[in-house]
Amino acid sequence: MSMALPDAAAEPAPGTTAPSDLATRLQTVRAGVADAAGEAGRDPADITTIVVTKFHPISLIEELYALGVRNLGENRHQEAQGKAASLADLDLVWHFVGQIQGKKARQVRAYANVIHSIDRESLVSALGSEEASVDCFIQVNLTDDAARGGVDPANLPALVDSVQATPGLVLLGLMAVAPLGAEPRRAFAQVREFSEQIRGQAPDATALSMGMSQDYAAAVLEGATHLRIGTAITGNRPVL
Ligand SMILES: *Cc1c(COP(=O)(O)O)cnc(C)c1O
Repeated sequence: MSMALPDAAAEPAPGTTAPSDLATRLQTVRAGVADAAGEAGRDPADITTIVVTKFHPISLIEELYALGVRNLGENRHQEAQGKAASLADLDLVWHFVGQIQGKKARQVRAYANVIHSIDRESLVSALGSEEASVDCFIQVNLTDDAARGGVDPANLPALVDSVQATPGLVLLGLMAVAPLGAEPRRAFAQVREFSEQIRGQAPDATALSMGMSQDYAAAVLEGATHLRIGTAITGNRPVL
């Protein structure tokens, strides 16, 4: 693991990512989050930035760790499982942000500290447990395309009730991805409204997981508590 101090002048070899670039991008995003929080009159300490490291190697996670990152996001089960096992000695919080196959649900639960993508009743029963609790979000689909993941907003109240009634699931709040081509701030405002609508059912489920590399500032303005940021910090994902 490189402990080199950030050196803005260092030139990486073509096709590689120098740690200094990573440090610079991380710093830029942290400053961007602080700016957006300031504009919203919010405390940046109330916002958790999750660095989404999907497709990137373990070495990149070790570099992020050396830079102080503790919250990581992954969206593919096998990849996430392997990384979590390899890095088990590091003090990391693993956020699973991808779609979950029912038959893999219990395996995801075994390493994920926070699950952002509960989107159907069958997953609720698969993830429930009498032994241990896991923090979770319900993902809301803001599009008409069911393949994008997330519960249809019409079915949100029923899903909230079943998560609340299931032992082992601690509902933190709602997660969403802004639809392609939509105005992100309007999409995030909609999620905030859904969150207010379920408050009577789930008074503690106030968290909002929304905002990615391109739209995190808009998300902060609409109350995001958990940002899921990939490329703006990691650089482009390697093509596998
Ligand atoms: C990949 C991913 C992100 C991060 O996307 P970037 O545009 O790289 O910031 C956030 N949320 C989910 C669900 C993702 O799959």
